[in-house]
Amino acid sequence: MTDRIVVVGAGIAGLGVAMALARDGREIVVVDRDAAPPPNVEAAFDTWERKGVTQLRHSHVFLGCLVTLIRDRHPRLHDMLHKAGARELDFEATLPASLQGKYTAADGDRDLAFLFSRRTTLEHTIRAYVEKLPGVRFLTSTIVRDLLLDKTAAIHTVKGVRIEREGAAPEDLTAAAVIDACGRTSVLTDWLRERGVTIDEEKSPAGILYFTRHYRLREGQDEPPRDLIPGAGDLGYIKYGVFAADNRHFSITLAVPEIESELRVATLNPKTFDAICNHIPGMARWIDPVRAEPVTKVFGMGNLHNVWRHFVKAGEPVVLNYFAVGDSAIRTNPLYGRGCSSAVLHAHILGDAMNATTDPRDQAIAFDKRSHKELRPFWNALMKQDLGAIRRAKNEQDPTYKPRLKARLIKSFAEDAIGPATRSNLGVLRALMKGFHMLAMPTAWLANPTVVLRVLGMWLTPKSKKLYPPKLGPNRKEMLEALGLKTA
Ligand SMILES: Cc1cc2nc3c(=O)[nH]c(=O)nc-3n(C[C@H](O)[C@H](O)[C@H](O)COP(=O)(O)OP(=O)(O)OC[C@H]3O[C@@H](n4cnc5c(N)ncnc54)[C@H](O)[C@@H]3O)c2cc1C
Repeated sequence: MTDRIVVVGAGIAGLGVAMALARDGREIVVVDRDAAPPPNVEAAFDTWERKGVTQLRHSHVFLGCLVTLIRDRHPRLHDMLHKAGARELDFEATLPASLQGKYTAADGDRDLAFLFSRRTTLEHTIRAYVEKLPGVRFLTSTIVRDLLLDKTAAIHTVKGVRIEREGAAPEDLTAAAVIDACGRTSVLTDWLRERGVTIDEEKSPAGILYFTRHYRLREGQDEPPRDLIPGAGDLGYIKYGVFAADNRHFSITLAVPEIESELRVATLNPKTFDAICNHIPGMARWIDPVRAEPVTKVFGMGNLHNVWRHFVKAGEPVVLNYFAVGDSAIRTNPLYGRGCSSAVLHAHILGDAMNATTDPRDQAIAFDKRSHKELRPFWNALMKQDLGAIRRAKNEQDPTYKPRLKARLIKSFAEDAIGPATRSNLGVLRALMKGFHMLAMPTAWLANPTVVLRVLGMWLTPKSKKLYPPKLGPNRKEMLEALGLKTA
């Protein structure tokens, strides 16, 4: 009986599993269909072909949850990321203009840091770190074609995988456990279902299409200041964000609602993409040709969903020695930047469960229980947020739409209470950012009476005394007309 662990997929979750499980005396084989990484981060950005990771060249930002986990559990990797050019922006540096100069330090502020890096730089660096961990080896350009299953017992038990290396005949690789870290396109659960394993799935649409273009600052030029003009916003018919990155790179993402059929086709054209950015002040100054030059085409991506797959039913695992981690088990709308944090945290929850016991049933139950406790509240919140955004995008196209009282109250609470409170009160912003960075549950701030009172107090404050953001950009009609597109 082997105690080898096979990790299928060398993306963020697969690397996270190796980080969490590697130790002397344990063999971990990470299998990936894609080729080994090129020698450095620039070559990785320019040439690393990743058929298995279609989002590789989309904008990514990394949250405090991921940064603190790496900093506290993998300090050498933390150093390596900084050496590779990744940058951390701490809480004080991300304060809105209205709170700059009013900062006073509090416990935990250090954790509220974003990591700015291209996805390729992050993955290339984590990979270099994992390659040196004890007992870990990679099989690259090797695709997993099937799961080896023992069907004699009352419950299906996974015994390994069938692999196919480029140009070679298929071979079997036995394992004590198989980790499915195949990402959003994983077919391992399909193979289990075909053999009669019941895997329940919840799925709801993200309702957007994602468009990304990368740029590089010209020599001698700097990023624009972080002032009153926000680099991210929601215009209803389009959401946008500037993603600072490593080594003078940055990218811009435009998220277009699926129902905006003409706009979504037009956005893929680099000229239209830049024209949209030039109509929105928060982005126009970033792509000013004096400041920066585009370095890629526009990448588009659709078919985005929130997904949660269940591998424990009525308290019992549906399969043994098989664990799905990261996007193959839990997916959220990329707009919220949670996927990599969630994947690496999920991987460490699995690592803790597998390090605590060798009993596969207990491992599965412990993994499921903690995943629900630590990740499910975020999934629930984002799924609901997306359904609300889909409704709003639909209403945006209907000139006769009149919101009901409940919808008006929710909108007013967000725009006239929470928004201005975060712009004018450090304590409120700090409490909400803890949830944003996945360092506290999304609704934890509601249990803090001081924060709640400040938000409610802000709701009652006259509008003339509140801080609202400047106009972010043109409305839908103005933008579509400026682009020469039909408005209805
Ligand atoms: C457009 C977009 C933007 C995003 N932006 C952000 C962001 O800003 N911040 C953030 O944190 N997250 C973001 N995410 C989410 C993040 O990219 C994912 O959550 C993360 O990549 C999940 O990691 P994973 O390892 O589960 O899957 P992946 O990273 O997709 O890796 C899967 C791996 O499995 C391999 N594989 C698949 N099938 C097989 C097989 N049969 N045999 C062998 N190998 C196989 C693939 O080659 C690949 O290497 C974004 C996602 C999208 C779609």
